[in-house]
Amino acid sequence: DYVKPDSETATICPYCGVGCGIKLQIRGGRITGVTGDEANPASNGRLCVKGRYGIKEFVHHAERLTTPLVKNRDGVQVATGWEEALEHTCSKLIRYRPEETAVIASAKATNEENYLIQKLARAVLGTNTVDHCARLCHSPTVAGLATAFGSGAMTNSIGDIKDAGCLLIIGANTTETHPVIGFEIKKAVRRGARLIVINPVKIPLGSQADIFLQLRPGTDVLLLSAMCKVIIDEGLYDSAFITDRTEGFEALAATLRGFDLDHAAAISGVPLDHIRAAAEMYAAAKPAGIFYAMGITQHSHGTDNVSAIANLALLTGNLGRAGAGVNPLRGHNNVQGACDMGALPDVYPGYQETAVEACRQKFEAAWGVKLPQQPGLTIPEIMDAIDRGRIKALYLVGDNLALSDADSNRVRQTLAKLELLIVQDIFPTETTDLAHVVLPAVSFAEKDGTFTNTERRVQRIRRAVKPAGDARPDWWITAELGKRLGGRGFDYEGPAEIFREINALTPSYAGISYDRLNDGGLQWPCPEATHPGTPVLHTERFTRGKGQFKAIEYRPSTEQTDAEYPFILTTGRSLYHFHTGTMTRRVNGLLTLQPQETLAIAPYDAARLNISDGDTIKVSSRRGEITAQAEVKNQLAEGVVFMTFHFPETATNILTSPAADPVAGIPEYKVAAVKLIKV
Ligand code: SF4
Repeated sequence: DYVKPDSETATICPYCGVGCGIKLQIRGGRITGVTGDEANPASNGRLCVKGRYGIKEFVHHAERLTTPLVKNRDGVQVATGWEEALEHTCSKLIRYRPEETAVIASAKATNEENYLIQKLARAVLGTNTVDHCARLCHSPTVAGLATAFGSGAMTNSIGDIKDAGCLLIIGANTTETHPVIGFEIKKAVRRGARLIVINPVKIPLGSQADIFLQLRPGTDVLLLSAMCKVIIDEGLYDSAFITDRTEGFEALAATLRGFDLDHAAAISGVPLDHIRAAAEMYAAAKPAGIFYAMGITQHSHGTDNVSAIANLALLTGNLGRAGAGVNPLRGHNNVQGACDMGALPDVYPGYQETAVEACRQKFEAAWGVKLPQQPGLTIPEIMDAIDRGRIKALYLVGDNLALSDADSNRVRQTLAKLELLIVQDIFPTETTDLAHVVLPAVSFAEKDGTFTNTERRVQRIRRAVKPAGDARPDWWITAELGKRLGGRGFDYEGPAEIFREINALTPSYAGISYDRLNDGGLQWPCPEATHPGTPVLHTERFTRGKGQFKAIEYRPSTEQTDAEYPFILTTGRSLYHFHTGTMTRRVNGLLTLQPQETLAIAPYDAARLNISDGDTIKVSSRRGEITAQAEVKNQLAEGVVFMTFHFPETATNILTSPAADPVAGIPEYKVAAVKLIKV
């Protein structure tokens, strides 16, 4: 039904990293509708089903957390006022030493909030142990691209997809997980761009591709290295670019000299002539842009996967120009911003390293406090430290780790060992259930601030409706904790004042102000107040100077199939739900479109196991078991099954592997050995 609104507020979609501009239509203090903001340069008025229909119901949902909860002696969470909850929290938190305390920030919170959360960790709690869910999605991107280019950010812009001669999409189901970017890719293909899709599952874009390569999960390094070898052997590389702008080519070429293409084809499951055709197409159709997501990063060799992608782009000179580039697509709406704001254990805002004395001194002077020197722990390391009894208190903002982290049975057991678990969120979740203190936060529609989307575009979000009940903005809650724990400099009037502090301390954000964000945002780096922002990185030189090739040895995934666990489970997301579904599962329309989890299985395997659509299947890995309904799909290869992780009743991450990438610490969500039993 259409209800004529009283007013409209321009803001940003709270779901994925595309960061589409939306207009919230308001009547009687409630959201009545959502339209696309045509003035937004990231989305030009387009929205996917989540942005258009998945917002008003969750913002006004009856299950929103509306008052603080504190666990009593009987273990029951009891509603309290803010004063009592904050005093209780601070009186407990202050008892722990810095090394006993951890903080997890949020890719759903604003830049201003993430800035404050890491400031609280470092300047008040005295620890660099602050991390967030980028650890579980794009930490290999930050590590791999920082080594190759000096910056882990998406090199190009959504708007220049139209300029590409070739688009290579690997480990990303773009039309479902970043639908508005998927739309731009399809539009470019209609205009004549070549399309190469590489994925273990035949995703929708695969049907439109010039070349679709269905590799075995976990063999990306072999496939990408094979493409590099073909390009070198056939002389298709850009020698002028390599000479002028890169280093390390000889080492890469030497490693690839003995590389066995037939072996790579056999292990990856992709015929060599298809690999060759993809390499030739990518090298020839300039400019060529690579887009990837967590199909690349969520591996025990995720950083190597990212480095292999960087090698391919450096070899062909596909960097520093519109339509080219290496474009990691961020999952959450503000995962880029949370990284930019230093919600990571080794960097302050703007990737200024905690280990560098000059950086530390700069933040000590600004915050008026001595800062910790030793590096902090990553999320997997925090979990290990809780298990060992070293970390006893955790302040967790806007993340449902009990459902989203790999090997989630163990994660729940680990979180239950904490002496103090403080969780700040907008809904009750599987993680707030375990908390000693629950602090109710407002949604994106009830606060001001900024998000930074996948293309580094800093955009304003604006308060459109009043907070639900007594919920408060994350920045207010964190600032109150800071003040009450004795921190200096936590007395803020609002997000604008926090943003001015970010400006002063973060060179890449120095030229950005709220006033300048009214016309579609600005892409960092934006170092001065007159700087127009940077749509394409590395145009004249790389952030690190020269682009760095990396010679890579293929390492198989940690978990292999065997007689007992003969299938590979790979995981991902669907169009209709987001992450652990805390918001989308509260939207009836989206639940109607996808009411439950399924286990997607190839027809050959289904026939062999006498499995039909709708059968209940017990899926077990070496870590636990769940049940799900079977969905027989041609898109799956023999021996591979696929699940999303949006539903608590079928908690897929009970099955996934915690085996970590040695550089980035990301768990191996994409490859787990499982067995299937029809029940
Ligand atoms: Fe929201 Fe992403 Fe959909 Fe855009 S593509 S409307 S940001 S979920």
